[in-house]
Parts: sequence; structure tokens; C-alpha cells
Amino acid sequence: MSAPVEPDLPGLRTRWGLRNFPPVEEWDCFTLNSAKAHPRHETRDYTLVPTTCFNCESACGLLAYVDREDLSILKVEGNPAHPGSRGRNCAKGPATINQVDDPERILTPLRRVGPRGGGQFAPVTWDEALDDIAGRMRRAIIEDRRNEIMYHVGRPGEDGFAERFLLAWGVDGHNSHTNICSAGARLGFTLWGGYDRPSPDHAHAKVILLLSSHLETGHYFNPHAQRIMEGKANGAKLVVLDPRLSNTASHADLWMSPWPGSEAAILLAVAAYLLREKAVDAAFMRRWLNWPEYLANLHPQAERDFGTFLALLTEDYQQYTFELAAAEADIPVEQVEELARLVAGARGQLAAHVWRSAAAGNYGGWMVARALMFLVVLTGSVGTKGGTSPNGWDKFIPHGPNMPSGHESWNELLWPREYPLATNELSILLPHFLKDGRGKLEVYFSRVYNPVWTNPDGFSWLEALTDESKVGLHVALTPTWSETAEFADYVLPMGHGPERHDTQSYETHAGRWLGFRQPVRRVAMERLGREFTDTRDANPGQVWEENEFWFELSWRIDPDGSLGIRKYFESPYRPGEKVTVDEYYRWVFENQVPGLPEKAAETGLQPLEYMRKFGVFEVAKEVYRVDERPLTDAELDGAAEEAGGVLRKPVTLDSTPPLVGEAGAVGLVHDDGSKTFGWLTPSRKLEIYSTAMRDWGWPEYATPGYITSHVNRSEIDVDAGELVLIPTFRLPTLIHTRSGNAKYLNEISNTHPLWLNTTDAARHGLRTGDLARVSTAIGHFVVRVWATEAIRPGVCALSHHMGRWRANEGEGSRWVTGKVDLSRPTDGAEGAWMIRYNRGVEPFSSDDPDSSRISWDDPGVHQNLAFPVQPDPWSGMHCWLQKIRLEKAQPGDRYGDVVVDTRKSREVYADWLARTRPALGPDGQRRPEFLMRPVKPKRKAFRVTPES
Ligand code: SF4
Repeated sequence: MSAPVEPDLPGLRTRWGLRNFPPVEEWDCFTLNSAKAHPRHETRDYTLVPTTCFNCESACGLLAYVDREDLSILKVEGNPAHPGSRGRNCAKGPATINQVDDPERILTPLRRVGPRGGGQFAPVTWDEALDDIAGRMRRAIIEDRRNEIMYHVGRPGEDGFAERFLLAWGVDGHNSHTNICSAGARLGFTLWGGYDRPSPDHAHAKVILLLSSHLETGHYFNPHAQRIMEGKANGAKLVVLDPRLSNTASHADLWMSPWPGSEAAILLAVAAYLLREKAVDAAFMRRWLNWPEYLANLHPQAERDFGTFLALLTEDYQQYTFELAAAEADIPVEQVEELARLVAGARGQLAAHVWRSAAAGNYGGWMVARALMFLVVLTGSVGTKGGTSPNGWDKFIPHGPNMPSGHESWNELLWPREYPLATNELSILLPHFLKDGRGKLEVYFSRVYNPVWTNPDGFSWLEALTDESKVGLHVALTPTWSETAEFADYVLPMGHGPERHDTQSYETHAGRWLGFRQPVRRVAMERLGREFTDTRDANPGQVWEENEFWFELSWRIDPDGSLGIRKYFESPYRPGEKVTVDEYYRWVFENQVPGLPEKAAETGLQPLEYMRKFGVFEVAKEVYRVDERPLTDAELDGAAEEAGGVLRKPVTLDSTPPLVGEAGAVGLVHDDGSKTFGWLTPSRKLEIYSTAMRDWGWPEYATPGYITSHVNRSEIDVDAGELVLIPTFRLPTLIHTRSGNAKYLNEISNTHPLWLNTTDAARHGLRTGDLARVSTAIGHFVVRVWATEAIRPGVCALSHHMGRWRANEGEGSRWVTGKVDLSRPTDGAEGAWMIRYNRGVEPFSSDDPDSSRISWDDPGVHQNLAFPVQPDPWSGMHCWLQKIRLEKAQPGDRYGDVVVDTRKSREVYADWLARTRPALGPDGQRRPEFLMRPVKPKRKAFRVTPES
């Protein structure tokens, strides 16, 4: 037996406090008793291969037990070597095995026959599909129709690879799901420091302040949850603001249940208290806030010194009183006071987070994140131990060889002029823009994305996707059937988490790590000396992985290299030859990951071998206060100081800005002469006054403030039957479309009633189990009620993840979908749509005997269909909260019915579009250069020229 190899001795078995993992020296061959052979005593040998979970973006470590004889996967458990998840997973991690073994998964490439959406597909070879798709793309590129190519991603599950092929193609076609997810919070955080999300150090905090239900249902479920509990065990106070008594709120020392949309008012009242009581870190503020801009813009007559700034800031925020906050939130004023005292006591150790929740629900929701970060700043908790860092400090993104530089395109279907400050693509408006004639698509890839089901206004998506004059070719890259794949021309099966390569990193704590997702059977075959050509030889059926698919597709778009694309997909080790996935990652791990080659050498391995063995590398520990990092000589070389102290190297309009930040900017000179890295804003400081908001037309919102939500109390007439609907809360065991084929998860969570406060239920004469009709601006749906005290009055909530359907038989995921009739209820009138279940979830025959044992029947209600698009005019975030009217179900209503008129969708779209202020910034810039942007173009593309 070889000597034990452990990345961080005494780490693997004890470092995280868990002791029951197989010792790493036995990972190549680990023997287990066979449970299935019981009562006979039999053993089987497994090779344990690490990978990372694909079921949410935390990318927790998994360890797959691959049978050395037949290569079947027995199970997946946590990877003890992973610094983010530390051997632990939520239920969705181990349930990955269900996704692999799903008897209804798509195993061969399929091509549509008959009309789009008609449910008829026939098998096609990979070669036929690739040639057809590549040919259409090549023509579009040659004819300068690059903006007709779009890649629309739901769960990325990787960092940097999509960036690579889109840049190589010269296509500004990256579309994401972010404006139905987190665009609101991203704007609020970005305006402060350039980074678009926080990384709280929960484990060392004094106060943990969450504006969402993180612990159990939201972002970073497992890695954050375990650290929040550590923080609590160490004495931290946990405060949760959530109108619903979530699992997280049930663990809180203080649960506040505010009226949705009032959160910023509460936080600003706390800020006013901190300023009033002088419970602020003045030294930090003096050094790191762009307070001179605040004075110059808001108090131009005032003395330009920090003392004056602090006095005026204090005065300016006293309008946010406890009483105002309590009135807006409809909660006792004492609760706001208690929160203020708790936050004041945090003293540099306030760990705070808002992600979806309020920031994703409300008109102006981004101000919630801006106000939350204000408290982190005032208490001096920025980047401290126990405080809140920006995500970029705790995340590591390597790139492959010969990375393409920025392109020169700007796709206004994705980045329209009405939303210059949107943090991500205006994804939800795509069907409307197509209907408006703003453009069309030659090739549209949906990739691990299900917009017909996930997005609001799904019938408008359905209309766009079935119109071949708007979408020429729809290619769905998906392991499973979905409501969107039904409307594809090609359905191409891609692997699940243990069937593909990716690198991924996430800000789980104050450290940096790089995870390596790998096709575990392929790795096992390699270990066992078995032959294969590519990952298809290791995966079930003809299931492929995307890395190899994109290599191959790009090569076929440019077979002779004349388009300048092929060179980006050539081997770094065999010039002129097509790169292999091994070569790609070998190069990344040898050249892009600091410390990995040395660490691998210590263990007698090459970097790629090390990553194949452990599945992860810890790049840095204890990462704090990166803003204070002194600049290196190389960074300073050629940099000149600008007004305000920003250090910048010369750039031209042909320069490409970094993913976040401005081209050329390297850091900051402070008053004391120190030169540090700083932040990624235009001032390289934390911006209490955002010049970007001013320069792009919204000066009144340049500082943290309070924007009245579209569901403010004043907008809702409770006595007339109106309520606020929260449609975004999640069940911890489900995840969008991806849990649809995970039987364990569906056995655990298979119903979703409408949470309704008992007083509201009584007012409407509804009791638990009754059917109710919920009407929105564009239609209605029919749900079952749960009368409960666990949600505040005036608000109701229906969990996300359920309401899955299939229009045609044979389209899978029957663990969760009901069969619907998709109809035009008013004799085919334009815009009128209805779905009605004709069968719920029911047992079915398959290779998995468990499918005949299904004991649940509720597919849920597809509520998102009945939501109009409500894009926040600043961030572009879809404002998920709905003003609804509640009534008893009407005669003829059936559970799960959804009725919508897309003509009304168009009216609501026009109404929200009218709230924007289309603007160009300085020098005709379409958008501030420092904002994060996928596939960032050259600086010249940011500028509107007479031809553009
Ligand atoms: S939190 Fe759960 S779903 Fe997310 S990556 Fe970890 S194990 Fe997977």
C-alpha cells in the first residue's frame, strides 16, 4: 500500500471534525459489504472519485463510489477534502445518484420532427446535430449576424468556460438567468465596492443578519448553514428578517416579520441610530469612503473635511426614524430598536447577507442590499474576521490556455439602452424584444435552463419559441426533459454533476478554493486502465459533456481556422491539433492555480493527477482586508496617479476591461502615501455616493436610500381582497427543474400549499385544504390553502420548485410532473392560454421499481406562468412579489389551473418599460465600465458611435 496522501494532514479525517470517511489511502480500492446481498456476506470493491455537486451554485464536494467491476455508481457522499463543504452536503448532494440513475433521462441526441412543440422527436447522431448547428452558426458569423447567436444559461456550474467560447466566436450572446435571481442584490452591493455579492464570515461573527431564509432554502445552503450554526454555537446573535417563519427564522434570536419591501427603511433607521450614537468606525470610513464625492455632490458649500462629512451624513439620515421604519414595516417599534442595539454591538463583526428575498422581490429592491452594506460599512465590518467581505476575495477563477480577448459587439437584445445600470442581461424581456422586432435569433442555446417554467410570463416564452421567424433554431442542452426542451429543435443530452468536467469556486467562507467537477466513471476507467475516446464512452447512452461538445462545435464552425476561432481550441501541447479535455485542465492546473503544482509535487503527483484524486485545491485561507493589500512593483510599473488618488495604466479603446472594474486601474494612493489595491469602483473606494448612478440619470439614488416598493402597504387594499404574494421561497430539498428526476427529493417534498395567515383566511372564508383562486395582472391560478400563524397578515406565500408539467407523453420527469392540456380557452383568441392537469403525479413502470411505488400525486401549481414581467428600472431584476386578489375558487376551477392572457403581459411590459430612463453616460458610454459583465467587450463597444 502506498503512503497515505492527504492534502492537509491531520486534515482529511479530523480537520473538519468528521471521522467516518474512508481513509484517502484506500480511495483507489475501498471495500464495502454489499447491503443488497444481505443476509449473505459479500463484499464489493469501489474506487472513490471526487467531483462537485451541480445542484446549486455552492459546488460542494462529492465523493462517488464507483464499482471497480461494472463501473456502476453505488452512491455519492461528501468529499472530506473540500474546504467549502467539509464533507457535508444537503439532501440534494447525495440525491445526485437519482439523477444519474433516472430511468427517464435523455440518453441520445434528438431532433424535432413535425411542428415545434408538437412532442415528436427522432434520434439523431451527434455528428449530424453538430454539423447542422455549426453550419448555421458559421453562416451567421460570416454574414456578420453574430448577435443572432445566443447562449442562455440557467445553472452555470462552472467559471470561465462559457466566457471562453463566446469570446472565441466574437459573440456578445451570453444570456443568464440572473435577472430572475439576484440582479437586484448585485446592483446594491456593486455600487459600494464593485463586487456584486457579499461573503459573510458567519463562523466568527458577533451578529449574523440575514434578509432571507438562507440557512435552509436559499443561497449557499450547506456551506453557509454549517457556518451560521458554528457562529451561533460561538455566541453570535442571529437576526432574520422574513415575512414568513422560515426554518432559518425559527433558529433566530430575533425574527422580524416586516411588510415586504420595507426592509431598507428598517436598515436605514438602524444606520441613523449608529450615526446618532457615534457607534461607527470613523477611522475606517475616513480611509475608505468616497466622502469627498458625497460632500461635493450633496453639500457643495460645506467644508471638505471628514468631520463635516460625518456630521452631515448623520444629519441626512435622521429622517429614517425608528417610527418611520416600524410604520412602513407594520411591526412594533421596539423590534427596530432591538435590532439597532444588536447591530451597534457587532463592532466589526457583523456578518450580513441578502440575496434573493427582498432584493429580488421589490421595485427598488436593490436598495435593500445597498442599505444592508451600509451597516457593514458603518460598523467597520468590511472584510474583517467575523465581518462581511466581497465575494471576489473568496473566489478563484482560472482560465484556459490562449484566452481570447474582448470582442467588439454589443447585443441590445441583452443589454438594452433602457437599462444601462442593469447588472445582468434583461433575460426576462427577450420574448417581448423579439415581438417588438428588436432582433431575431438564428441559433438559441438553452443550457440547464427552463425559461418557459422558471421565468415569469412563460406563455410569452412559449409564443416566442414556437415562432420560427423569431427563433430559427432552438438547441436545448439538458440531461432531462423540461417544459422548455419540449419547444426545442435539438435536445442534446449533457451529463449530470458526476458526468462532466468543470472548474468552479464559491465564496463559502473567508478563504479561496478551486473545485474540480469530473466524470467519475471516466476517471475510474482511467484508474483501472480501461480504454475510452471521450466522455461519451464513460457516460450512460450517448450522454456527453459540454467541454468536449464546445471544443468540437467550435472546431466545426471554423474547420480550416480561417475565421480565427479554431486556434482557441487547439492543444497547448500539440500545436495545430484539437485540444483534449485532459490537456485543457492539465494546462489550467499547471499554469493558473498558485500553489497547486508545489502541493501536487509534495504528494508525488502532477497537478492534474492531484485534482483528479482530491477534486479540490485550497488556494488561500483566512482571507481578510484585501483592499489593504500593498500594490506590487509590477502593478505600479507604468501606473500614474489621477485626481482622487486612483492609480491607472494607459489604456486605449481597444483595451478590454477586466470582468469587474475599469481597464487600467490598479489601485489607490491614500493620504498617508500608502498604495493599496482598494476596491473596483471608479474611485477605488467604497462609494457612499455613486457617481455611476448620477452619471446614468438617477442622481437622487446615488446614496443609500429607501424606494417605495410596488407592493408597499399603501398599494394593497387588504379589505378588498388584495394581498402580497411571495412566490420565491424555496423548499430546502428541491432545486428548480433539476430535482424533478431525483426520487429521494420528490418523496420528501411533494406538495406546496399557499401559506395564508389565519386572519386573512378567516376574512376570505377559507380553511386549510380549500381551493382558492389567485388573480394577478395577467391571469389567475388555483391553489390549495394552508391557514397558518407562520406568515404575517396581509401576505401569502407559495413555494417555488413545484408546478411541473408535461404537455406530451414520453417527456419524462414523471416523479414530479403532471400531464396537462395546453389550450386556448376563448376559442383560440390571440393571447389566451390555459393549462389544466388531466393527470397528477402517478406511479409508472420503468427500470426502477421505485417508480411504481410513487405515493404522492400533487404536481403543484405553475404560478410563474401568471406573473407579468416586472423589471426593476435600475437593476433589471424581475420584481417577483405580486399584488394579487384572493377569492374562493369559482365553479369549474380545478386545482393547478393557470389561465393567462399574453396581451395583458404586453401591457404590463410596456408599463414597466416606461419607468426606465434610457441614458448614455460620459463619452456616450452605454454602461459603466466597472460593472461586472459576462463576456466583456472592448472599451470601444461600450461607446455609442454614429454607426451603432
Ligand atoms: S448545498 Fe446542497 S445542492 Fe448545493 S452544492 Fe451543496 S450539496 Fe449540492
